[in-house]
Amino acid sequence: MADEFDVVVLGGGFGGYTAAIRASQLGLRAALVESSKLGGTCLHLGCIPTKALLESSALYHRLHDRGAEFGIRAEGVTFDFERIARRRDGIVDQLWRGVQGLMRKNRIEVVQACGQLAGPGAIRAGERTLRAPAVIIATGSEPRSLPGIEFDGQRIVSSDHAVLANRLPASVVIVGAGAVGVEFATFYRQMGSRVTLLEALDRLVPLEDEEVSQLLLQSFRRAGIECRVEARVKGARVGDNGVTVELEDAQLEAEQLLVAVGRAPRSSGIGLEEAGVATDRQGFVQVDGWMRTTVPGIWAVGDVAGGFLLAHAAAHEGITAAEDIAGHRVQPVEQNLVTRCTFSSPEIGSVGLTETQARARGHRVKVGRFPLQAIGKALIHGEPAGFAKLVADEETGQLLGAHVVGVQATELIAEPALARLFQGDAWEVGRNIHPHPTMSEVIGEAALAVDGAAINV
Ligand code: NAD
Repeated sequence: MADEFDVVVLGGGFGGYTAAIRASQLGLRAALVESSKLGGTCLHLGCIPTKALLESSALYHRLHDRGAEFGIRAEGVTFDFERIARRRDGIVDQLWRGVQGLMRKNRIEVVQACGQLAGPGAIRAGERTLRAPAVIIATGSEPRSLPGIEFDGQRIVSSDHAVLANRLPASVVIVGAGAVGVEFATFYRQMGSRVTLLEALDRLVPLEDEEVSQLLLQSFRRAGIECRVEARVKGARVGDNGVTVELEDAQLEAEQLLVAVGRAPRSSGIGLEEAGVATDRQGFVQVDGWMRTTVPGIWAVGDVAGGFLLAHAAAHEGITAAEDIAGHRVQPVEQNLVTRCTFSSPEIGSVGLTETQARARGHRVKVGRFPLQAIGKALIHGEPAGFAKLVADEETGQLLGAHVVGVQATELIAEPALARLFQGDAWEVGRNIHPHPTMSEVIGEAALAVDGAAINV
């Protein structure tokens, strides 16, 4: 009887382990099958280690390149990449131990094995077969490359390689200006590397509001990042000293090529086809708002289920699936309430619809914008580039989307996201009393600007 559970979760990333904890809180006996380390991509190869690297690069850049601006004499500032890497690994390790502790505290049985679906209500995990009426697939995703360009981990790398590197390339070409591309461009440039960023579409961060893309492009160019949009990569050749990247109209040489063109779901070879679980053309598992797949008794959460491939979205989906399994009536997951955060410099935070998307959906919109130049705290930070832009329905005033680009944008986006969850109006956000002097004032002013009532412009 030891292998009978109420829920078995396949995959112990942020989505999977959160689902297991919530299931356990609701009185369900939960098991979690993980072949590698608990914490998944976010903890070991994504959010956490990359942000640790970015913290070091930002500090180095501030002191090395901008100290004098702040009245700090910091001649001869250098870095020790090994220590930067050790700090990164130490943070990951501490959080990893925390997740292991959470599993014990919540009495979740963790099975260290490569698992796969084995018929209705069964997961085979090594020697064991775990049975449960509810199974949650949370196997995540992995970096994909381009046809004819293969990762070798040295010259041609994915974010998995780049994040774990213990040395810095002097020059790098990055293909893809999504979140991975612009974050690594920021990191390498702040550390002093020569960076070329290539994007196939006509703007950087093409999923964001157009005005955000424009500001990022200006900032990147000012920072010395060479940006090329509408760039078509035809191939890459590895030589003795680096890599040659072939574009339609040019050849670029660099020590390293980082391919950051998106991620593919880990949905094959885990028994999904045999179980009849439907996937889309790219292999993402099809789910409804409660993360139910097309087969009763099987849920899927996180990157493998598509939508925004973001850790916090995965965790929210995990909670939703666990509550649904426990028979609770819960709100379905709504992609338009998921905050998107990119930790480039400047940072980007957004939620809901862009202005173009809102218009395309038939809304008549009113837009409020407010520049960071007029926010005292932004000047104090020495980061006046950026703005907040709020998009509201013209008739009802309801907040449809919020877009922030600039220092601390990833922190600032939580407020408009909450307003959207509460189906709030822009004027309500404007009536919130924002503390002074803080960056959050830019949200209040942009909200007031929706009705032409911003004060400090
Ligand atoms: P992405 O899909 O966000 O961006 C990939 C970019 O590459 C797109 O802009 C695309 O147009 C471009 N591209 C595709 N083919 C190309 C080609 N041949 N030449 C040039 N450009 C090309 O993917 P990503 O940046 O690799 O990130 C993967 C996933 O991980 C995303 O869903 C992302 O949101 C998530 N992620 C999030 C964060 C964060 O939230 N801070 C950080 C890293 C990754």
